[in-house]
Amino acid sequence: MSSPSPEQVLKSVFGYDSFKPLQREIITAVLRKQDSLAVLPTGGGKSICYQIPALMLPGTTLVVSPLIALMRDQVAALVSAGVDAVFLNSSMDYDERRAAEARIRSGSAKLVYAAPESLAGERLLPILDASPPELIVVDEAHCVSEWGHDFRPEYRGLGALRGRYPGAVWLATTATATERVRSDIASSLGLRDHELFLGGFDRPNLRISVEPKVDQKNQVRRFALARPDASGIVYCGSRKRTEALAAVLAAAGMKAAPYHAGLAPELRTATQEAFVRDDVQVIVATVAFGMGIDKPDVRYVLHVDLPKSIEGYYQEIGRAGRDGLPADCVLFFSPGDIVSASRLMEDMEPDQRRQALGRLELMRAYAESDRCRRHVILEHFAEPHDGSGNCGACDNCLNGPRPKVDLSIPAQKFLSCVKRTGECFGAAHVIDVLLGEMTEKVERFGHSGLSTFGIGTELSRPGWNSLARRLLATDHLIRDPEHSTLSLGRPAFELFRDKGSYLVPQEVVGGESEPGSVGHKRARKAERAGRSAKAGKAGKAESASLRIGAPLLVGDDIDTGAAELFAALRRLRKELADQAGVPPYVVFPDRTLIEMANFRTDSEASLAGVYGIGRTKLERYGSAFLECIRKYKDRG
Ligand code: ADP
Ligand code: ZN
Repeated sequence: MSSPSPEQVLKSVFGYDSFKPLQREIITAVLRKQDSLAVLPTGGGKSICYQIPALMLPGTTLVVSPLIALMRDQVAALVSAGVDAVFLNSSMDYDERRAAEARIRSGSAKLVYAAPESLAGERLLPILDASPPELIVVDEAHCVSEWGHDFRPEYRGLGALRGRYPGAVWLATTATATERVRSDIASSLGLRDHELFLGGFDRPNLRISVEPKVDQKNQVRRFALARPDASGIVYCGSRKRTEALAAVLAAAGMKAAPYHAGLAPELRTATQEAFVRDDVQVIVATVAFGMGIDKPDVRYVLHVDLPKSIEGYYQEIGRAGRDGLPADCVLFFSPGDIVSASRLMEDMEPDQRRQALGRLELMRAYAESDRCRRHVILEHFAEPHDGSGNCGACDNCLNGPRPKVDLSIPAQKFLSCVKRTGECFGAAHVIDVLLGEMTEKVERFGHSGLSTFGIGTELSRPGWNSLARRLLATDHLIRDPEHSTLSLGRPAFELFRDKGSYLVPQEVVGGESEPGSVGHKRARKAERAGRSAKAGKAGKAESASLRIGAPLLVGDDIDTGAAELFAALRRLRKELADQAGVPPYVVFPDRTLIEMANFRTDSEASLAGVYGIGRTKLERYGSAFLECIRKYKDRG
């Protein structure tokens, strides 16, 4: 009998029909014994890239992974798919460790997961020597680099394994790697003229939007209540706010819990665990939450405060939709957030502060942009994109161009006032002059004598502030990062010279998004869209239904039957998962249940064709799920 192909292993063990981008290429390279570095986005399916070779190679595969909680769940998922895998880390008790070691020694374990600390100790390696690894995988490989955001000194020693296991091929995987981090990984692990696989950063299943922040508690509550079965994360800027918001959600009847670094470590672990097991539905957290949690079915990530950088923001929303199903990422934004965020930076060292302000400024420009959100983010990471196209999954692309207003006259007034005051003042003073305020500074510099003094009564102070921000975003103005003084950029001269027009999206003129402002109306419109989605109509961006391919509809009134069956299957999954002491997604991912609910598969043969059902899982869980589906059909 010839050995199975990677495609066959993918289907029979993992229950998937086809590879995701680059998976096949990476697997082929590894099987050819070609050292490789794979950079794939979160949810890109990195694990399969080494799990399949591990099953195909005769020897053992060693997987170095930094996150203990993650290791446990990964191994649980493999074991439930019928793969002999073990892990070794500091959290195990004596008996667990002995049992795992015996399986490594006998060579029965195909995959051995270990924390880098265990490899530095003198206990594990002699055991591994009995069946030397044929493939060495370094997961989260950016941890090796001091230039990365998550440096772990223990990773530095991994290169030494090269000498001990000279016959092994190496695969390093990560989701984030700048060029510098990439070359660090290669040199520090001693990869031998390795092949680089670089996947795109884009996450097309994330629906990204920015909503004016009007009343955050109600906005978050409404959002979460509209998705009663969905897991979500709400990020807040302060510990106090996480607790307040979690209380609001709990009072509305949701299973919500706060999470921040000020809570006891045991409580944090318990909360995280409860979330992964679907006992807690919404986590309201500071940025302390997220690293090392591997929950593929997070359906939304909300931000009620402005993230400190685009990098951080993208990483946080990246925790949504790892299973590839649609997920919503909403940033609730108010221009006032910039002021409060920069106030928090007042105690920083000047250098640090300048950098922090620069990052915040980019975040603000993102929030106020009227371009495709995806494009703005991808450009930030210098990632090529198709440029013109409509991504179909961000608010700006879905809503079409916002109505624009012509602000050429106020823009020219502002810019010439900057010029006349000598390009050495901040926005506040320039606005004082425009509004004709006799402040101490205006008097001291004799600015009441300028031709621009008092000519700007058509806009309020917040209106002028918004316009100034917009002029900064379009490079008509340049702000000195240290002194916040404004000077003119090249487009300003073009505006003067060509008498061109300066059009801005309507919302910008509204200033602070106070109730009744333009921004507020937009928020209400979005809310209506959300309601109509619930009622089963269009509501593209807001729709809570899950769709993959044509016939899959859950949570949509068109097929309430499927939604009901889906709920029943979820309950069964939760029961089985609790019995086995694993997270529900380890039993089956959401997509598997959605397919079962839609196709009402009622035979073992048809079940075997469903996404995510391999041979072992069919044997283990098939009859329970079939029974659930049959019961449902008999009833209806
Ligand atoms: P990463 O580690 O890159 O973030 P994972 O390895 O956790 O991603 O995979 C993300 C999800 O995609 C998992 O639920 C995994 O089972 C699933 N997956 C991986 N490869 C495939 C595939 N070829 N077809 C369908 N689903 C896949
Ligand atoms: Zn878009």
